[in-house]
Amino acid sequence: MPVLVDDRYQKGLIVARRDFTKDLWSIRIRPSDPFPFRAGQYATLGVELEDRVLERPYSIVSAPEEPELELFIELIPGGALTPHLHRLGEGQTVWLRRRPKGLFLRQPPAADLIHLFCATVTGVAPFASFLRQLVRRSQSEGGAVPRILLLQGASHADEFGYLEEMERMSRDLPGFRYVPTVSRPWDEPGWEGEVGRAEDVLRKHADDFGVAPGQGMVYLCGHPGMIAGGRALMRRRGLQDKEILEEQYWPEGKEPTGSDT
Ligand SMILES: Cc1cc2nc3c(=O)[nH]c(=O)nc-3n(C[C@H](O)[C@H](O)[C@H](O)COP(=O)(O)OP(=O)(O)OC[C@H]3O[C@@H](n4cnc5c(N)ncnc54)[C@H](O)[C@@H]3O)c2cc1C
Repeated sequence: MPVLVDDRYQKGLIVARRDFTKDLWSIRIRPSDPFPFRAGQYATLGVELEDRVLERPYSIVSAPEEPELELFIELIPGGALTPHLHRLGEGQTVWLRRRPKGLFLRQPPAADLIHLFCATVTGVAPFASFLRQLVRRSQSEGGAVPRILLLQGASHADEFGYLEEMERMSRDLPGFRYVPTVSRPWDEPGWEGEVGRAEDVLRKHADDFGVAPGQGMVYLCGHPGMIAGGRALMRRRGLQDKEILEEQYWPEGKEPTGSDT
């Protein structure tokens, strides 16, 4: 949506960029003014086109304590904003709405319960932020940490983005399990992990981890198809709607041709 540049925005300097595939990358942005947020929130990012800002929401990967904002972005061919963002590298700037938004993880997972995080590709972002914060807190303060299963689906292994970090966390953080799953294993002869779309293996892993009605929460983030499928499965498992929270990245039925995760 194009809007006029005004004092609702601040500038963000891109200080790092990492490309995972030809259409998936992360950037770290240094805001010119403080940008406090909660894990699970999103930043609204824009580029100036003529005298207007074209903007979209992006979930924040970095933990609130980090000095820079990290975002994990997918290039949508023919999309209005991402082709512009994709051209930007270190030293260039974006516009950033001064206020973060979003209520997705507003009630942080409780320490004595069991939680299921399910993401497609870039939908891992809010969970990464929460887990980074959890690791820091458990190292500095100790105490009980919630049991969390993170299931992340992608077509191919190079789309997980944060695979190594998540695997390291699953070794360091007691009670955290990470399950990446690829939906096109025939393209991945070396892949030894889970196969199938996230919603197709969700029930098996949820049961194995002990996700059950009244025991915790389920959080679904990213692809609308995964969210609809995941929600239906969890309802059939007996979970109530208040135990299933969602962050949907785009409207159902509006995937560009070729998208399957
Ligand atoms: C709360 C929230 C958080 C978000 N966080 C992220 C994030 O962390 N990383 C990220 O890459 N995107 C995220 N998105 C999606 C993002 O806001 C944009 O929709 C996306 O970057 C496409 O923008 P565009 O202007 O290039 O495409 P548009 O011109 O807006 O869209 C073109 C078409 O692509 C569809 N579409 C949008 N995103 C995708 C996608 N990922 N895969 C397939 N089809 C899509 C749209 O529905 C539309 O039909 C988030 C969306 C929401 C609502």
